Amino acid sequence: MQADYVIIGAGSAGCTMAYRLSEAGKSVIVIEHGGTDAGPFIQMPGALSYPMNMARYDWGYRSEPEPHLGGRRLATPRGKVIGGSSSINGMVYVRGHARDFDTWSEMGADGWDYAGVLPYFRRMENWHDSGHGGDPARRGHDGPLHVTRGPRDNPLTRAFVEAGGQAGYQLTDDYNGEKQEGFGPMEATIWQGTRWSAANAYLRPALKRDNCTLVRGLARRVVLKNGRAIGVEINRGSKTEVIRARAR
Ligand SMILES: Cc1cc2nc3c(=O)[nH]c(=O)nc-3n(C[C@H](O)[C@H](O)[C@H](O)COP(=O)(O)OP(=O)(O)OC[C@H]3O[C@@H](n4cnc5c(N)ncnc54)[C@H](O)[C@@H]3O)c2cc1C
Repeated sequence: MQADYVIIGAGSAGCTMAYRLSEAGKSVIVIEHGGTDAGPFIQMPGALSYPMNMARYDWGYRSEPEPHLGGRRLATPRGKVIGGSSSINGMVYVRGHARDFDTWSEMGADGWDYAGVLPYFRRMENWHDSGHGGDPARRGHDGPLHVTRGPRDNPLTRAFVEAGGQAGYQLTDDYNGEKQEGFGPMEATIWQGTRWSAANAYLRPALKRDNCTLVRGLARRVVLKNGRAIGVEINRGSKTEVIRARAR
């Protein structure tokens, strides 16, 4: 098997890459060790505490013994399923802080200042702003990743924000907009009652294209020739095979 690009892992990054590369007309093979994300544990947002604790969906990593926690080893979940950690995460949608991006840029990460990454934040999201209106310079409305605020019918959702103000903290209408600090409505990658994982947002639409294929397997190593990656060796069932990448 071969394609222009081989992507290891159908997680947040892998699904997005598969979508954007196949959209650009490149052929893509995505290798994922985990299995299906079908079923309510992943798709139903209210079940969020289950998949992150299930061996079927989580790699089961533990930290080293923590000396300041009485030597306990802590669970450190990572998704092992289509959609990767976006299929087992808490679905809370918060962009990194603009000042963090700007600091990384000042430290040498060219192009990673907030102005540099903002077009990509906008391009990825389809923000359903619940009547807020939104700042079109900062929020996107036609990307694959649905972001919602939920109905917030429970009066405690508003009381919590008010309580933050009364306690002396700042408030914000939109913590993913211009003012990132403060108490305000929480945003989530949930759409029409479904977890809007990277698999739902990006991988499923990509797989509908002829040039994107998903292969179930465990990547063992990147195959190098003259210092260039030319493929990925995977375990697939009882076989070992190499999936080749053509692009240069
Ligand atoms: C429990 C939990 C709660 C979280 N809550 C939030 C939240 O509320 N909001 C938020 O923004 N972020 C949250 N995160 C973080 C966020 O989900 C992750 O940062 C993000 O999904 C990581 O994306 P990734 O592409 O780097 O890796 P992943 O999405 O983890 O993707 C890696 C993929 O690679 C596959 N893989 C790994 N090794 C191999 C191999 N050798 N061969 C084949 N496949 C392989 C894995 O199975 C997986 O599918 C949470 C994460 C967890 C685990």
